[in-house]
Amino acid sequence: MSAPYDDNNIFAKVLRGEIPCKKVYEDDHTLAFEDIHPQAPVHTLVIPKGKYVSLRDFAATGSDAELAAFVRAIGKVAALKELEGQGFRIIANTGVDGGQEVPHLHVHVFGGRRLGRMLAQN
Ligand code: 5GP
Repeated sequence: MSAPYDDNNIFAKVLRGEIPCKKVYEDDHTLAFEDIHPQAPVHTLVIPKGKYVSLRDFAATGSDAELAAFVRAIGKVAALKELEGQGFRIIANTGVDGGQEVPHLHVHVFGGRRLGRMLAQN
């Protein structure tokens, strides 16, 4: 399993309103907001409101309602950002090899241009 949840991680502070965010979508279980350093014309983060470090523990211990809301929120963001026609990419960096920097589960939603190959060649 993942490391214990750190209540001082950046996205926990966003959820508590201690750090501002540009909100894109919110429901009972999920928040979506703009990435502070966008890497594409659309770069939105989708996070569960619950305390999950990564997709590993969310998949293992999240409720069905939370999991459903999370997947639907990704779809809502794609629709709100008008990405459904041209397409988009989602990424959930997980753990050390995945390059996860913020230890609160998040999915990146990228779009607005051709995104190139699936992985950087390095
Ligand atoms: P990771 O590397 O963990 O998958 O991605 C973390 C993402 O969080 C990065 O793309 C980074 O730009 C974004 N980020 C880090 N700090 C903040 C912040 O304070 N606000 C917002 N909106 N995004 C942040």
